[in-house]
Amino acid sequence: MSDHSSWMNLHNHSIHSDGDFSPEQIAAEASRGCLTHVAITDHFETAKVRRCLKSEGLDDYIREIRSLNERYDGSLRVLAGVEIDTNPDRCVLEELPVDRLNRLDLVLFEFVNDEWNGGSSLAEIAPLIDSIKVPCGLVHTDFARVFQSFSPCDVAEMLASHDLFAEVNTASIYKRQGIPYYEHAERYYRAFHDKVRISIGTDAHRTLREVSNLGRGYAFIDRLGAADDLVEIK
Ligand SMILES: [Zn+2]
Repeated sequence: MSDHSSWMNLHNHSIHSDGDFSPEQIAAEASRGCLTHVAITDHFETAKVRRCLKSEGLDDYIREIRSLNERYDGSLRVLAGVEIDTNPDRCVLEELPVDRLNRLDLVLFEFVNDEWNGGSSLAEIAPLIDSIKVPCGLVHTDFARVFQSFSPCDVAEMLASHDLFAEVNTASIYKRQGIPYYEHAERYYRAFHDKVRISIGTDAHRTLREVSNLGRGYAFIDRLGAADDLVEIK
């Protein structure tokens, strides 16, 4: 399947928000695709989607996802995460339940520094990010656009100072001129080497096939020589 020590997809949506499949179905597909790590990362407390995961349901969500690990005998790690919308008109960021979020395996943040999408700046959400003790990352970030006023080295320093990983998101909607955001931002990802961890996510919602659609993302990582920079989740 691959020469990599991991084959990860750390970004997928289930029926707990706007995805079409259960965590169980997503994990089964990940196992069929020989993934080593798959994360369920539903939208959390945001008006962006009609159905999202709520604070009071978070513990049951984590329990459901973690219980799936028993089936795969260590060949696949199934991780519990959420995706947080940093647009303050849709998500009340200061009311997020940090103690509960700290029971997850990872937390994803979308639209950081993205004014088009009403996202908060990294400086605005830094206190929140610093209060979360589990791995946190910025997802489907169009670095070459939303961080264009910063050099790649500056962005690497900014992310490293908050221990944030950067995602390579392979979903077809996250493209400009037919080219994925991460490929536009190759010089940023090169500056991340040895400073900022990288994750790969497909943002699967509607098709199970999407869960193991990792080839182009890993090809990019290999071209950068960044296999050792991939996120490791304990
Ligand atoms: Zn997503």
